[in-house]
Amino acid sequence: MSSTITEGARPDDARRHNRGAVLRRLHLDGPCTRAVLATEFGLNRSTIKAVVDGLADTGLVSERLPSRRSGAGRPSLLVVPNPQAALVLATDIRVDRVAMALFGLGGEILGRLSWRLRPGSASPRDVITRVLESAVVLASELSLPVVAAGVSIPGVVRQSDGLVREAPHLRWVDVPLGEQLSAGLQMPVTVANDAELGALAELTRGVARGVSDVVFVAGDIGVGGGVISSGKAMRGAGGYLGELGHMVVRPDGLECHCGCQGCWETEVGAAALCRALGLPLAIGRGELHAELRELADDPPTALARLSDYVGWLGLGLVNVVNLLAPQVVVLGDLFAALPEPALQVVATRVRERSVVSRAVGHTLVVRSALGRDAHLIGAAEAAFSPVLDSAAG
Ligand SMILES: [Zn+2]
Repeated sequence: MSSTITEGARPDDARRHNRGAVLRRLHLDGPCTRAVLATEFGLNRSTIKAVVDGLADTGLVSERLPSRRSGAGRPSLLVVPNPQAALVLATDIRVDRVAMALFGLGGEILGRLSWRLRPGSASPRDVITRVLESAVVLASELSLPVVAAGVSIPGVVRQSDGLVREAPHLRWVDVPLGEQLSAGLQMPVTVANDAELGALAELTRGVARGVSDVVFVAGDIGVGGGVISSGKAMRGAGGYLGELGHMVVRPDGLECHCGCQGCWETEVGAAALCRALGLPLAIGRGELHAELRELADDPPTALARLSDYVGWLGLGLVNVVNLLAPQVVVLGDLFAALPEPALQVVATRVRERSVVSRAVGHTLVVRSALGRDAHLIGAAEAAFSPVLDSAAG
């Protein structure tokens, strides 16, 4: 994503801004030549040379010949972000699993590990201790300094300090996760809701690149949403916006752990999907995905078995689209694993029943292509953002 270059700013500010914008572009969109940078940013070649030289002097980028030559003549050098120049640690805490990865500048994963959790019985202290130990293991494998960390959590998170107010499926309440990890890791730590980070991942490295209004809706044990409006994360008071799963869609429906009845989550979360498919609620995630893959090969059966489920998914999305007016809705986790015919029904329902979808020229409903890594990637990008700003200075 290119950022506009400010005209008329003081030379130091303009240089810092240009370096930041070019570094962010290289980090998110990958290597390119100086000529491409000049065109994209509307700057002359000598200004781009000064920007690239400045970034190269601090080791953030280097220039090298492309691995594949195209055409005759001397190939242009590519400006390449150096992965080792800035490493961030990303952690995705889920109800049944914790995954961690080290990301280099440019977004490459340089090391990763994960472990399982027993749902509902993972104490904050045990998880924090293991995250801190695992961070040391990951960093020591690379012998490179890590500069910041991002953490994804399925819960309601206070943006200012990463306090987890409620993570109901983990049974965590008022856990100072940001503070404790920051003290233990000795680096800035950004903690955010998993769906908010999923939205960031889709915007920066997923199917919503270049889109300014996006809603990411992920169905796992719970259902959450992340909202990007006019290119920026919508957060609401305290940063708590996005509890789409607790939108009441069926007043006479099942009781939800939040205290309401008939929340969207009770109709489209993992438990509802298992009920729709006649599977035991305790079924493993691998088996559930295998069942969905099998259904994908048999559209009539898929539509018959998922008819009610798809109806509730579509109904909730119509509300979401009417309320938030996204250009694109990205479906993550279990929703992304639904058979194509089921997804088509949902997309059609949104198109036909949402007045906002009709007004904006049809909201697209697409599945995430980032799979289980969406939260990790979002956590990494949340950690990278201030690093990119300061690295360019
Ligand atoms: Zn609820």
